[in-house]
Amino acid sequence: MTDATEILRHNRDSEYLQRKFLAYRPQTCLIILLTAVMGVSGWMIDFNIDPQTAPGLIWMRLCYVWLLIPAWFIWRTDSHRRAALYALIALVLAQLHDIAILRLLSGGLSTAIMSFVFYPLVVALLFLGFSLFVNWTALALVTLSPFLLASTGWLNPFPDKLYGLIIWPTSIFLACNCVAFAMGYHRRYLLERALEDASNTDPMTGVANRRHFQYLLQRETSRLLRLSQPCALLMLDIDHFKRINDNHGHPTGDRAIKALADACTLNARDVDEVARLGGEEFAIIMPGTTTEGAAHLAERIRAYVEAMHFASDDGEAIRWTVSIGIASLDHSAQASAELLGEQLIARADAALYEAKHAGRNCVRPC
Ligand code: GH3
Ligand code: MG
Ligand code: MG
Repeated sequence: MTDATEILRHNRDSEYLQRKFLAYRPQTCLIILLTAVMGVSGWMIDFNIDPQTAPGLIWMRLCYVWLLIPAWFIWRTDSHRRAALYALIALVLAQLHDIAILRLLSGGLSTAIMSFVFYPLVVALLFLGFSLFVNWTALALVTLSPFLLASTGWLNPFPDKLYGLIIWPTSIFLACNCVAFAMGYHRRYLLERALEDASNTDPMTGVANRRHFQYLLQRETSRLLRLSQPCALLMLDIDHFKRINDNHGHPTGDRAIKALADACTLNARDVDEVARLGGEEFAIIMPGTTTEGAAHLAERIRAYVEAMHFASDDGEAIRWTVSIGIASLDHSAQASAELLGEQLIARADAALYEAKHAGRNCVRPC
């Protein structure tokens, strides 16, 4: 039950749907291309229905290549909403295209059921990368549209009873199938997220690990090059940490590491990224921030740590301090994103080294 509500909730969640769309985008485009191929090759069926008229309609069949246009738009867009709209429009137009051909064939409309049964199958595959609600909407659209068109007289003579007998079980079966696919993707999503979290997060502190830090830093330096935004990096290291370990034991040392991670996340802004680089060394990436701005946060963390005493395993109050190095890049920086990231790390590291040499428990800009 919880699973079902979670699946329905995720099927309204934009981030989930965006990821699902991107995962299935190649398949969505491929299905549209295959529909175009089916549309063109439908000429062979036309020929069997009405050999006199079919040769003159070959150009109408060739016109199915217009489906390349929505396939291209879906391939290029990054928005799942826009892609769903393109796919729905393509589907409705493809069905109308089919009907326009069948109307010109003698006996075409009495065999139309053959074409209409094909569309729910296309929907089930074409909309796999979209929300379950979009799946059902598209399915309802292609199932009901022949009834609606028949009621306007545009599809006469249309054997709607026979169509109903075939289409209802098919569509209901496919609607249930969409649920099975949605459940399958949902499981895959949860697994992917768990794997990503495990590979990006430091298990002891819950902040980003070194590998994810490299990725985040490169993302920020790319943004710096693209948008000419400044970017600052803080490098933090607990002073005389070996002494804490030696005097109070490793579990107490671990608690100091966790306490520094908490101090960083508590004092940083939402846009800042905190990472543990290893041991008792941390970094904070500060997008859109100059050295002066970063110095405020650094000083806040330094003072916070100095004022915060924590108890060792044997109940002794421990005083501890942290040294912080700052480096920043502005829009005048010119190099590849990767190189800029390396420069920033090297400079923040040098500033941290200076802070250690200046007597520790202080902040030094590069
Ligand atoms: P400094 O003020 O110059 O930074 O001196 P320091 O004693 O902090 O020196 P250093 O940075 O070299 O000390 C790092 C120590 O951190 C060495 C290592 O035993 C310890 N360490 C590394 N990872 C962990 C960990 O996960 N838990 C604990 N408790 N200790 C760790
Ligand atoms: Mg240290
Ligand atoms: Mg260290």
